[in-house]
Amino acid sequence: MRPIVLVHGGAGHIPSERAQGSIGGVCAAARAGYSVLTAGGSSLDAVVEAVANMEDNPHFNAGCGSVLTAGAQVEMDALVMDGRSLSAGAVSAVSNIANPVKLARLVMDKTSHVCLTAGGAAAFARQMGVQEVPTESLITEYSRARWRRNLEPGANPVECQMGKMGTVGAVAVDSQGNVACATSTGGILNKMSGRVGDTPCVGSGGYADDAVGGVSTTGHGEAIMKVVLARLILFHMEQGRSVEEASDLGLSHMKTRVAGLGGVITVDTKGVWTARFSSNQMAWAAACDQTLHWGLYKGEHFTEAIVQTI
Ligand code: ASP
Repeated sequence: MRPIVLVHGGAGHIPSERAQGSIGGVCAAARAGYSVLTAGGSSLDAVVEAVANMEDNPHFNAGCGSVLTAGAQVEMDALVMDGRSLSAGAVSAVSNIANPVKLARLVMDKTSHVCLTAGGAAAFARQMGVQEVPTESLITEYSRARWRRNLEPGANPVECQMGKMGTVGAVAVDSQGNVACATSTGGILNKMSGRVGDTPCVGSGGYADDAVGGVSTTGHGEAIMKVVLARLILFHMEQGRSVEEASDLGLSHMKTRVAGLGGVITVDTKGVWTARFSSNQMAWAAACDQTLHWGLYKGEHFTEAIVQTI
């Protein structure tokens, strides 16, 4: 089996001055995940590596660069899922962790639970020796400015929320044919404190099953949760649809049924993959067969050979 990793940097509208940063970020994350796979690492290791790479990149709404709540706080959600056993780990409303995806993996590996939230997640992180970081270190000038703009008279909060999403996610299949997914986000701008979105919810923010494939989603979380988007797409694949047909069916159902826009990255067990979105843009990148693929607008698809240095 040829290994593959596919990542996204969030569906929505990416202002032109931030486009290069988003593309550079998804390409770097796909390369990081691919290095894990080509060194013989598992799909689970690869998706965690790729997502942590984007959490560390202030261009994305995850980890450093997360959007702010109405009260100007950071509350991040993350999910990881292992398609071998359907094991999953998630955290929601965590504030002082640089890499929520790694904490989600610890929840999966070290507890009998699937999701820990807020104070309980923070206590668990401390118990696991995960370093706490000051919330300030996760807040960028850009996210603070957007939060401020949203308070101005005449601001359209929904438009602002859809304006820049930047959630990050990854799906991968390793040389053993095992599938994994991971998703991480700061949520939506000016959300209420305590709001839990789709990202940490198994089946909504992502799903991985070695028998079918893997999906990571982005977009308006409330809409994604109502249609359980990731699992819905895998259901269509189980019914014989291709990754592309299944992804489009899921996204168009979400649009017509609950007026939600978003994007997905989807892979099947043979490593056939697609990146689809109903929003204007979604930064995505894939690495397989020593080739890097990426795009931002609909129909856009660039490629470049991956030259690996040891
Ligand atoms: N789905 C995320 C949320 O609603 C936002 C996003 O994908 O940008 O929390």
